[in-house]
Amino acid sequence: MSDYDVVVVGGGPGGYASALYGASAGLNVALVEENKVGGCCLHRGCIPAKALLQAAEVFRAVKHSGDFGFRLPDGVQATTDWPAVNARKAGIVGQLHKGLSGLLRRRKVTVVEGRGRLTGDGAVAVGDQTLRGRAVIICAGSVPRSLPGMEIDGDRIITSDHATNSDRDALPDRVAVIGGGVIGAEFASVFTDLGVHTTLLEALPHGVLPIGPDRQVADILGLALARRGTDIHPAARVGTLEHNRNGIVVPFEHAGGAEKIEVDQVLVAIGRRPFTEDMGLEEAGVRVSERRFIEVDTTTMATSRPNVYAIGDCVDTPGLAHVAYAEAIVAVHAILGETPVPVDYARVPWVVYTHPEVAWAGLTEAEAREAGHTVEVHKHSFAGNGRAMIIGDTDGMVKVVAATDGPILGFHLVGPWASELLAEGYLAVNWEALPSEVAAFIHPHPSLSEAIGETMITFSGRSLHG
Ligand code: NAD
Repeated sequence: MSDYDVVVVGGGPGGYASALYGASAGLNVALVEENKVGGCCLHRGCIPAKALLQAAEVFRAVKHSGDFGFRLPDGVQATTDWPAVNARKAGIVGQLHKGLSGLLRRRKVTVVEGRGRLTGDGAVAVGDQTLRGRAVIICAGSVPRSLPGMEIDGDRIITSDHATNSDRDALPDRVAVIGGGVIGAEFASVFTDLGVHTTLLEALPHGVLPIGPDRQVADILGLALARRGTDIHPAARVGTLEHNRNGIVVPFEHAGGAEKIEVDQVLVAIGRRPFTEDMGLEEAGVRVSERRFIEVDTTTMATSRPNVYAIGDCVDTPGLAHVAYAEAIVAVHAILGETPVPVDYARVPWVVYTHPEVAWAGLTEAEAREAGHTVEVHKHSFAGNGRAMIIGDTDGMVKVVAATDGPILGFHLVGPWASELLAEGYLAVNWEALPSEVAAFIHPHPSLSEAIGETMITFSGRSLHG
């Protein structure tokens, strides 16, 4: 006899989406979480980080308010009240947490507090309780990676877990960010805009977003950060961090030779690893890779153990909350005996919430060429876009990669509200639309989205404002 239809282990985006979607389909669900429902995304990741990025946006707007005709009295400058910035962020997190808890309650999901471990017979043990389900979905998530010589103390040497939950009275004056990936770029953007002297150290030859986005698009972000004052060092080999009386000494080697900088805080952003230890996986016959990702069949998200599924950051698919949501739906469909539509991982939406924002779906120009496509590429800058001028933010462009006389393969954005503009490009890529089909759709005037329409029209060899 099963107590539940589904026992979900882990209450982050993958876990709560599994519980909510399963319950909406009439399943009796238990959700096991050792901390707060919402997981890293809500409490230490996406939501608080984006709240800080929005605070940086407002600060930029205040600093540039003179451009719009507003004057501060002579000698008066806007300053950052860091505890107040964090209090606003905490308020948003608190409100969302309350909303999520209420939603789970209304859907009659049983939330069980504690660490869930699989038992040999496929049940889930939580403390001295045993939960039995017809199916189990493991949504164990991930934690920040670190390296010897970069030991995290949570105060001077931190990860995004701490950067999103700062209890300092004020921002540090000088920060080194190690890793120029998504987290490193987003925090470099926040720190730089809030007046922190920021040094970004990236191991790979491109300093900002070296992996993932189209190179041209990422370089526009890199240039924008550098112009605002981020000190970016690509191909940097960071040595052992040393504490001294004033802060942390960060030694690194790069093309220019060996260097040492002194900073007040170091943010280590060198990637995340699956959090799959101490869960009884191997004992229960759930296969785990060498890098400790749970191995799954992505058509159903089933693991090697019958009736046990795994989704989200603990499987080796893009570590994005919205991918975990999509995988939750796949797993629940499989449990219901329906035919799931698997996630097309090569065409998921990616957004980096820096200033300017970067967003994309599908193949980069280089990837499309490497895959053997003959491609046609068109771009349209936001520089001449009326809405971008009105907003006061004209840095960036739309870049579309299509097969010659064929469908759109990749859609790339850098610039104002790229995160929101991506929706149209994402649909175009996944619907395998032709540029001419999208060009036939009307884009409101004045709007940032006109730059998308203009890019699509250019594929015909004609143009409006291009
Ligand atoms: P990442 O893999 O995106 O970037 C890590 C970077 O660190 C890489 O560029 C790597 O080359 C560099 N690096 C590794 N070791 C280094 C070293 N010793 N010295 C210098 N550089 C080094 O990882 P992340 O930025 O930590 O993000 C982790 C995960 O979180 C990713 O899966 C990401 O998708 C997800 N995330 C997504 C968003 C978003 O979608 N907006 C935001 C935050 C995090």
